[in-house]
Amino acid sequence: MFNCRQIAEMASRSLDEKLSLWQRFNLIMHVLMCKLCRGFLRDIRRIQQACQQLAKRINEDDCSPGSELSQEGRERIRTAVRDYTRKNDAGGREE
Ligand SMILES: [Zn+2]
Repeated sequence: MFNCRQIAEMASRSLDEKLSLWQRFNLIMHVLMCKLCRGFLRDIRRIQQACQQLAKRINEDDCSPGSELSQEGRERIRTAVRDYTRKNDAGGREE
């Protein structure tokens, strides 16, 4: 049985790579019983979705009206997002 810390690590990892069936099973079983981890999992999924939406908007060059971002700031964010999505596409994890 995994503890909360291991579940948190696994949940974070699940955003970058596919978990094995066994890992997924343990994650689900733990989350069903543990309110804390359930909340954590929900939060990181929400953050992931927000990042994906932001990346999509930046790629479409559709920044919100009245945005105070300079051209340079925008370019920096775009580069960071591109690097991030490229890293994710490669399935690699740097650590
Ligand atoms: Zn837990």
